[in-house]
Amino acid sequence: MEKVDTLIIGAGVVGLAIAAKLSHSRSVIVIDKESRVGEHTSSRNSEVIHAGIYYPYGSLKHQLCVRGKALLYTHCEQLNIPFHRLGKFIVATNAEEAQSLEQIKTRAHANSVTDIDFASSKTIVQQLSHLKIHSALFSPSTGILDSHQFMLSLIAEIESNGGIVATQSEFMHAQQLGSDFIVALRCNGEQFEMGCSQLINSAGLNAPDVLNKITGDSNKAIAYYCRGRYYRYQGKHPFQQLIYPLPNTHGLGVHATLDLAGQLKFGPDTDYIENIDYQFDDSQKARFVAAIKRYWPTLDESRLTADYTGIRPKLSKEKQSDFVIQFEATHGISGFVNLMAIESPGLTASLAIAEYIEQRL
Ligand SMILES: Cc1cc2nc3c(=O)[nH]c(=O)nc-3n(C[C@H](O)[C@H](O)[C@H](O)COP(=O)(O)OP(=O)(O)OC[C@H]3O[C@@H](n4cnc5c(N)ncnc54)[C@H](O)[C@@H]3O)c2cc1C
Repeated sequence: MEKVDTLIIGAGVVGLAIAAKLSHSRSVIVIDKESRVGEHTSSRNSEVIHAGIYYPYGSLKHQLCVRGKALLYTHCEQLNIPFHRLGKFIVATNAEEAQSLEQIKTRAHANSVTDIDFASSKTIVQQLSHLKIHSALFSPSTGILDSHQFMLSLIAEIESNGGIVATQSEFMHAQQLGSDFIVALRCNGEQFEMGCSQLINSAGLNAPDVLNKITGDSNKAIAYYCRGRYYRYQGKHPFQQLIYPLPNTHGLGVHATLDLAGQLKFGPDTDYIENIDYQFDDSQKARFVAAIKRYWPTLDESRLTADYTGIRPKLSKEKQSDFVIQFEATHGISGFVNLMAIESPGLTASLAIAEYIEQRL
């Protein structure tokens, strides 16, 4: 039976970032059940480098987003991964919402995101005249990146350190024997076993199921799936920065984002679903259009075309939760790290999540 120091379940951006970090000091393998890496949430997001504005002070989301943003910009600069620090406006459409902007600014400053401030009326006239807004905050350190190039750079780092990225390799179950784990995998229909001393669950939407298989408790964690749709806007448009409405309980609101080619898209909305299903339900388009028209009333909705969906990994339907990163002290299994609910800003935070885990192993 083959053995590695660390086996990571899930080759999304977070699993790859952890594998890349650990590959400098130990042998690693990162496995994924799909035929390519990053096929799930890591390919179905807004590709925004978040500043760290909204998250409760001291939360993992706050700390790892702010640290991750710095690490990610440096990583992109050093490895020539396409990115653009284009900035984002958070807009209030009336006086009541403007009060929430004040609270967002206060929280951002507490989170050390001190570059955020109210946009001047001159800026609003010059840059946001197409929008119907009361006031806006501007975050200059928010940006966008090519997340696929980023994942490829992580694979290159893993492999140049002798690590392995194994696709079509599904985690089935694991058993702890002494200080090692015996992990059962299914690869191309065949089952085989692999040994490791550290096991990391970074299985994204499936992370609660993987945890339950490792603990043997089928009710320990329950996964909730919150799907969001993206519509692409066809044709010329006036947007030069990202435009976000006020956040809500389940997400950051239907925002306007640009990709590196300047293509405008809107999304994601929120819809709880029972299973992992990326089907695009176009029947609710009116609700989506209404959300955009709150800040861009002249939107020509005939230019919106269905694009893709992404699913947020949630642990509750009711309340916002922090990232969950658990070590032995929480679950009692030595050598096991369990990650769950790594929703937004997980892409931004990925390098900081890897650093956080390395420091604690
Ligand atoms: C709609 C949406 C928009 C977002 N926008 C942003 C954004 O703009 N900026 C930002 O910072 N973050 C954003 N996020 C969050 C970000 O995309 C995620 O936090 C991040 O991609 C999570 O990566 P991951 O590796 O944890 O999960 P995933 O990418 O889902 O990877 C998990 C992997 O585990 C594999 N897997 C599952 N089960 C098994 C098994 N049994 N065996 C082997 N492999 C398995 C899966 O195939 C998958 O590849 C967004 C998320 C969503 C849903």
